[in-house]
Amino acid sequence: MKNVVANRRLDRRKVFFTRISFIFLMILFVSALTVSFTKRKIETNSYLSNKVVNSTKKHKPSSVKKSVVVLKNQISNSGTRVEDVYKEDGKKTAYLTFDDGPSTTVTPRILDTLKANGVHATFFLMGQNIERNSESKELVKRIYNEENAIGDHTYSHSLKKLYPHNLLDVSAFMSEVDETQNILKNILGPTFFTRIIRMPGGYMSRKYYKDPNLIEFDNILKQRNMVNIDWNAYDFDAEGRKRYAGELLDKVKNTVKGKNKVVILMHDTYGKEETAKALPDIIQYLKEQGYEFGTLK
Ligand SMILES: [Zn+2]
Repeated sequence: MKNVVANRRLDRRKVFFTRISFIFLMILFVSALTVSFTKRKIETNSYLSNKVVNSTKKHKPSSVKKSVVVLKNQISNSGTRVEDVYKEDGKKTAYLTFDDGPSTTVTPRILDTLKANGVHATFFLMGQNIERNSESKELVKRIYNEENAIGDHTYSHSLKKLYPHNLLDVSAFMSEVDETQNILKNILGPTFFTRIIRMPGGYMSRKYYKDPNLIEFDNILKQRNMVNIDWNAYDFDAEGRKRYAGELLDKVKNTVKGKNKVVILMHDTYGKEETAKALPDIIQYLKEQGYEFGTLK
C-alpha cells in the first residue's frame, strides 16, 4: 500500500516537473524569437529616416569593380519591386515617374503637388543635373525625405557617349550609372543604394535597334541586383513640339486607357513647366479612375 502511494507521488512529481520544464522551454523559445525580431527591427532602421529597408532576398556579392560600394541587402527605395510591377492583382496601380531631373525650376513644383495630394513618385535622376548647384543637391534630399523613390538615369544622358554608332557601350554606360550612384551616396549617405535604372531613350529603343550588347548589359545588371524599367504610358512632354498642360493630360488619358498597371513617363527637367502645371489634373484623373499610387524599388 505504502509503495503504491509512494509511486503515485513519484508519478505526480514527474508530471509536475515535465510540465515545468515544458513551460520553461516555451518561455525560452518566445524570448529568443522576441530578441531576434527586435534585432532585425533595429537593423532595419537607418540613415535619414526609417525608409531604408533590408531586402528579404539574399543579395549576391556584387562584381562592382568601380568605387561603388553596394552594402549587403541595402535597397533604399520602398515600394514595388520592378519585377512585380505588371503582375495583375486585381488592383489599379499608377507609378508616376519623372526623368532627367532634378531641376530647380520644375522639381519643387512637382514635389509640392505630390505632397498636397498625398501621392509619391519615382524620380530617375541625372548625375549632371544633381551636380548643377547646391539647390539641386538639396532637392535630392527633399525627394528622398518626402518618401519618393530614386532611380539612376546615368550621369550625362548623352546618347553619343552611351550608344556610340547606335550601339550600347556597356562599360561607358555602367560607369555613368556608378558615377550617379556615388553622387547620390555623397548626398544621402553611404548606405544609399538604388537598384533601379532607366536607360535614356528607353530599353525599348535598344531592343528596337536589336542592340547586340543588351545581352552583356542584362547580365551585368543581374549580377549587381539592378534592374531596368521603361514605361507603358506617357504624357509626351519630351516628344516633338511643345505641348500645353491640357494636351499632356489628354496624352496620359489616352495612354493609360485599358491598363490596370501603368508606369507613366514624365519629365521634371528645365523647361518642363507645363508638366508641373498638368500634374494636379493628371493625379485627379487617375484617382477618379480608381488608381492607387506606387513607387518603384
Ligand atoms: Zn531621359
